[in-house]
Amino acid sequence: MKNGVLMQYFEWNLPNDGYLWKQLKEDASHLSEIGVTAVWIPPAYKADEQQDEGYATYDLYDFGEFDQKGTVRTKYGTREELQDAIKALHDNNVQVILDVVLNHKAGGDYPETFEAVLVNPDNRNEEDGEPHEIEAYTGYDFPGRGDKYSSFKWHWYHFSGVGCDTSTGTEGIFRILGDGKGWSKGVDSENGNYDYLLANDIDLDSPEVTEELKRWSVWAATEFGFDGFRMDAVKHMDSNFTRDFLKNIKGDRGEKFYAVSEYWSSELDSLADFLEAVDYETDLFDVPLHFNFYIASEKGADYDMRTLLDGTLVKQNCLSAVTFVDNHDSQPGSSLESEVADWFKPIAYALILLMREGYPVIFYGDYYSEARVGSSHRVILDKLLEARRVYAYGDENLLFDDPNVVGLVRHGDIEHDNSGLVLLMSNNEDGCKNINLGANHAGETWYEMTGSITDEVHLDENGAGVFNVKGRNIAVWVKR
Ligand code: CA
Repeated sequence: MKNGVLMQYFEWNLPNDGYLWKQLKEDASHLSEIGVTAVWIPPAYKADEQQDEGYATYDLYDFGEFDQKGTVRTKYGTREELQDAIKALHDNNVQVILDVVLNHKAGGDYPETFEAVLVNPDNRNEEDGEPHEIEAYTGYDFPGRGDKYSSFKWHWYHFSGVGCDTSTGTEGIFRILGDGKGWSKGVDSENGNYDYLLANDIDLDSPEVTEELKRWSVWAATEFGFDGFRMDAVKHMDSNFTRDFLKNIKGDRGEKFYAVSEYWSSELDSLADFLEAVDYETDLFDVPLHFNFYIASEKGADYDMRTLLDGTLVKQNCLSAVTFVDNHDSQPGSSLESEVADWFKPIAYALILLMREGYPVIFYGDYYSEARVGSSHRVILDKLLEARRVYAYGDENLLFDDPNVVGLVRHGDIEHDNSGLVLLMSNNEDGCKNINLGANHAGETWYEMTGSITDEVHLDENGAGVFNVKGRNIAVWVKR
């Protein structure tokens, strides 16, 4: 989709009021108007408690329909409200991407006893003690749902590890023992083997499990009309599974079924290896770019802006890159806290929204509110979304030639009248660049459309002019 924009429609600290789906339904036409072409919704199925964000997944088939874990609705609302929201979004040509958590399950219904061994958390290939019997909540029979939609019941042998022996209260990473059981091989090698993340780690080497998860995905996508999946925590999942799972759902729903995955690593090589391992069936969030933004925002004028795209996915593998500034995990108080400082956010968003490559994400926390405090970035984001909708077309020249003032030129295309723009970004003082846009622009007047500069630029007979930017700010110049 040309100039698509994905909005992450949630943040970590939303109130547990069951209102998100209703809000999303009411917001559908506005989202479409500002140029949002897809929304990424949080895990929409039942978690271990009502207030959970959805990542402590309990029952993938319960989208707020059954009385389980003390609640019918989820943190975000009921199944019916979700379906209403999806209909409103589709009526406005906005796609719906579901957050899919298949690495682990939480909130088991009853405890089971089985053999396990503690492992060293820093090297999970190393055993830390003798194999012994432990007890953990690995039994799931979904008493509120019964066999509706699926009769699959989970047991200890469908998991590869747990985080607690409930018979003794011992916490730690326990690897479950049994015929053919062990950590998955196709996972990140951090901590020796990073299969285990939290709760009950799903054994993705079990054919019973993988068939059930594939069956679930086709059911969910068909039942709700999802247009794609955001795959959670893929660095902790066997990449062979992720590849087969995505091939399976695309085989059913068609190649246009979208997938983006969270591989939380700033190591470009790890991302590249993963993409190859999954046959490029999924896009990836550009985590290295997020960290460049984060570091640049911390360093201020000492950061060399020419390196802003170095080591990023969007530079090396642009077709697979989903560019973002912050998300529910990087925001303050979250597990991977690394929030880009406020002053730098307009710069970061200007780059991802106006550059040619990458599929940009707007974070709910940056557009609406974070921790119930309204965002100060909405005004500039609306301007940048307008710039993306109207002007950000055609070929691109990167102007990464100065440590403190960088920018880019989009040359426009014939399908979009008067398209094309000049973006400048400064992390220090006021700056300028003398830019020649070509003789076909001779004599034109350009203005700064975000409102940071009121003076216009009059291009000379060669189409050249001097474009300004205020210190620690952005300037988006377009034709008057
Ligand atoms: Ca795992």
